[in-house]
Amino acid sequence: MSRINKIKGFFDLFPPESTSYMFMEDKAREIFLKYSYQELRTPILEQTELFARSIGQETDVVQKEMYTFPDRKGRSLTMRPEATAGVIRAFIDSPASSSGGVSRFFTLGPMFRYERPQKGRARQFHQVNAEMLGEDSPYADAEIISMLWAYLQALGLQEMTLEINSLGCPLCRPGFDTELKHFLAGNDPEVFCEDCRRRSDSNPLRVLDCKASGCRDMVAGAPRIVDNLCQGCKEHFDKVLEILNSFNIPFKLNPFLVRGLDYYQRTTFEVISDDIGSQSAVAGGGRYDGLVKDLGGPEIPGIGFACGMERLALLLRGIREKPLDFYLAVLHQDAMHKAMQLVQRLRGKGYHGEMGFKIRSVKSHLRQANKKKVKTCLLLGLDEMQKNQVQVKDMSTGVQRAVSQDDVEQALGLVFQPRNNNF
Ligand SMILES: [Zn+2]
Ligand SMILES: [Zn+2]
Repeated sequence: MSRINKIKGFFDLFPPESTSYMFMEDKAREIFLKYSYQELRTPILEQTELFARSIGQETDVVQKEMYTFPDRKGRSLTMRPEATAGVIRAFIDSPASSSGGVSRFFTLGPMFRYERPQKGRARQFHQVNAEMLGEDSPYADAEIISMLWAYLQALGLQEMTLEINSLGCPLCRPGFDTELKHFLAGNDPEVFCEDCRRRSDSNPLRVLDCKASGCRDMVAGAPRIVDNLCQGCKEHFDKVLEILNSFNIPFKLNPFLVRGLDYYQRTTFEVISDDIGSQSAVAGGGRYDGLVKDLGGPEIPGIGFACGMERLALLLRGIREKPLDFYLAVLHQDAMHKAMQLVQRLRGKGYHGEMGFKIRSVKSHLRQANKKKVKTCLLLGLDEMQKNQVQVKDMSTGVQRAVSQDDVEQALGLVFQPRNNNF
């Protein structure tokens, strides 16, 4: 039979790579629960309109990158390209949206974008997301940013900078958009890239973070939104920066940070890391106060962030699962049942281990145990069975001794100590 290949742009995650992902997820749960964020799991598939309306028709994501297809009844469905829109849709559906309180959610999982597969870009990628709904205070911005910071520190990142900007609000943004359009219209259209020629009128803000060199040079002299904020936005932004300062979170104002999604207003941010070698954004987010209403819900403010797990995984390559505590080698078929009981008992007490189901020579078993890098190899043959014993071999020293089957736990050299994780 011919083999079935995986789909282009999709990847299988084997250990040790998958270990990094487990680590990221465990740390996310550990840190976010401390901040009272609860896990929300939303569907992978949503109606296409959800993303078109929230992310914005003019964005690259909606125009070029969505994984969209009709279902059997011809309805247009899209595999989520990001998490926030689905979280808001779910939130509006839930009683939480009419409770008047603050809701905090985090989500972990795969996202999908139909991009041309290239190095470092997969069509399925993974994100850690957090969203806070129902609070517009600058303290909320500072809280979620400091939670992100704590998370990235817990993953072991050291060389990080927070880049931050304010995108204004419906009061001050239109005036700035007009000013920016004027500025852009005063430039030779030839310097713009093809995308920006189109969006310099429809979505001028996006020109600010275009990576094309012509656009970048031209934008250097553009008006800055931070100089055009209304009083409310200015006070909000100043307060956020003041709190971040007091938390010793190093930040850099980046007036051209606009993020690729249309729904952001006021505070937007990215975390840039030097840990991977070249500077790259490992996380980003911002405030989206109009989004809940735009998606048919009440007027509720929100702020959130996303971390790209593929980028972070590059930093976590050294993370390995702890080796198994034991490998149990069965030397005779009649010892098999007893061996399995013993292994079950040890697992019940918190030890990690496996047994070999094939009857092999001692030598071949030890080779297996070595391959699995276990600390201790237990050997159980007929002789041991009769004496209610088991041979315990310390794989690092090679020292082997017979102990009573009742004392194996002690012999494993560990007082009972359940492991709370694998790392
Ligand atoms: Zn404003
Ligand atoms: Zn451009």
